[in-house]
Amino acid sequence: MTSLPKKLDGLDIPVVIRRSPKARRISLKIDFYNHTAILILPRHASETEGLKFAAQQRQWIAAQIQNLPELIPFADGAIIPIRGEDHRIIHRGKGHGIVRSTDKSLSVFGQPEHLASRLKDWLKRQAREDINPLVIAKSTKLGKRAGRISIRDQKTRWGSCSANGNLSFNWRLILAPPFVLDYVVSHEVAHLAEHNHSKAFWRHVCELTEFRRDGQEWLRQKGKTLCRYG
Ligand SMILES: [Zn+2]
Repeated sequence: MTSLPKKLDGLDIPVVIRRSPKARRISLKIDFYNHTAILILPRHASETEGLKFAAQQRQWIAAQIQNLPELIPFADGAIIPIRGEDHRIIHRGKGHGIVRSTDKSLSVFGQPEHLASRLKDWLKRQAREDINPLVIAKSTKLGKRAGRISIRDQKTRWGSCSANGNLSFNWRLILAPPFVLDYVVSHEVAHLAEHNHSKAFWRHVCELTEFRRDGQEWLRQKGKTLCRYG
């Protein structure tokens, strides 16, 4: 359950209160996408108690938000990476669709108010075009069959594999260099064989990709920077 953001005295950053039946104590986390703080309240904590806790952590919240990379909305002139290579967005009024040129520009046609959603849809399709054949090739190599493949706007994960073999991937992976996508796809496909992170699981990952270490390292260091686009 989520209620409207609260304002704390002396802090410009909104605090969103979230009840969690699973939480054992009051805690705070930072929402990278919305540049807000999230206050997590266990079942028995009152809102007043929670806000008192958040107020004590004012400086921590402010510092965390200040350290976040700047948000880069999809708009004319913005630079966004596609498969790890920077492209400049150019809005063009008349026409339809999106055209990528060899000079690393990306022309988005149509009404300006639709630019962001049109570009996001296009990037999701690009992600699917890269991900589907990789899943097929890697699951075939593993001798397993993948279920449905979905491309999602996941806030907290790069990919997942359900118990019945459906795979989902974060569309923002299309922004990262291709070896990162290769690693994430290999990771999720390996879960078709092992639904855990055992040694056997990691052996499968390494059979499916040579980028396990590089992919993990890139995501650890730079993964969060992908959250700022869109
Ligand atoms: Zn995993």
